[in-house]
Amino acid sequence: MSTCNDIRFLIDVQDENITFSPGCVTLGEYNGKPCKFISGELTYDPTHCEKCGIKNENYVVIRNGKQTSRITLPMAGTSLTFLKLKKQRFFCKACRSNFTAKTSIVETSCHISNQSKAMIILKSGEAQSIKSLSRDCSVSWHTAQREIDKTAQSIKHHHQALPENLSFDEFK
Ligand SMILES: [Zn+2]
Repeated sequence: MSTCNDIRFLIDVQDENITFSPGCVTLGEYNGKPCKFISGELTYDPTHCEKCGIKNENYVVIRNGKQTSRITLPMAGTSLTFLKLKKQRFFCKACRSNFTAKTSIVETSCHISNQSKAMIILKSGEAQSIKSLSRDCSVSWHTAQREIDKTAQSIKHHHQALPENLSFDEFK
């Protein structure tokens, strides 16, 4: 298995447009705490312009620099773990606008991976305070509470028989 596949396998990144190179894991610090950074790159050839919808033929959409974002992942080992993702930027010559490559691992303009969000929901079923849950998932108390509320809302939509208010305090 190549380094790229090893890392993808280790951190459960299924998006094949994200690649990892040897030496991509480095140690660092975040808010005074030791952490691991995993550097990856996201690029592909878009089929259409995301803004005007024109078909990407005859190089109408070109690559135009990269933008790095820091995405929270579930912890690898005992350290905070972040994906430093260099996302491809594109420029459309037809509508003269820029857009950034998308990935299934994180929602647009969000810095918490979908995996971390899934982990919040999984852990919310355990007898654990929101405070310790948020620490285990490397997110703020507020983020953990918001994800739980969002899920509770969608469940409420599907099962009208549930009580009016689902509250998550120190313990559920
Ligand atoms: Zn366009």
